[in-house]
Amino acid sequence: MSETQIPAYVDTRKVFHQHEELIGTVSLQSLPRFKESLANDQGIVEIALYFSVNDSKQRIIKGNISAHVEVACQRCLEPLAIYLEDDICLVLLEEESAAASLGPEFDPWICSEFKLLLTEVVDEQLMLCMPIVNYHETEDCLKQLEYKRVELSTNSSSQASFKESPFSVLKNLKNKA
Ligand SMILES: [Zn+2]
Repeated sequence: MSETQIPAYVDTRKVFHQHEELIGTVSLQSLPRFKESLANDQGIVEIALYFSVNDSKQRIIKGNISAHVEVACQRCLEPLAIYLEDDICLVLLEEESAAASLGPEFDPWICSEFKLLLTEVVDEQLMLCMPIVNYHETEDCLKQLEYKRVELSTNSSSQASFKESPFSVLKNLKNKA
């Protein structure tokens, strides 16, 4: 695991032709949208990005993004640890209109300036791989639910006397003995 913090931005005039590679971590503080969707700011985001120019003179950003973070469970609202991971393959375009001619293997990234904000790229890519729903699969979440269900049924049930209490069962057993 690398502890190197990647730069917030790179110069598009250099990184592609120099075939730069950036491997390191990104702080959650620099990813506003992603951070907003989390239960807390405890987490690690790691990226590996490779810049290149292909035979068609397209500027390519390939790599991988992963994150260990905590989101709120949508069933019990307690924090839930999740792992997100995605491969990315972006083509840097100066304007949106050029995106129509891209092959299906590429996603466009529009940037008309020399300064490419890497944190924006990472923020966006993480939002894209965020699951729509997040639930615990552990017993903890189910126990919470069970508790709520019992509470609900005792409150709504008027037939509590229908069931024999364990004490009267015991009494009957004793009487027989
Ligand atoms: Zn839960």
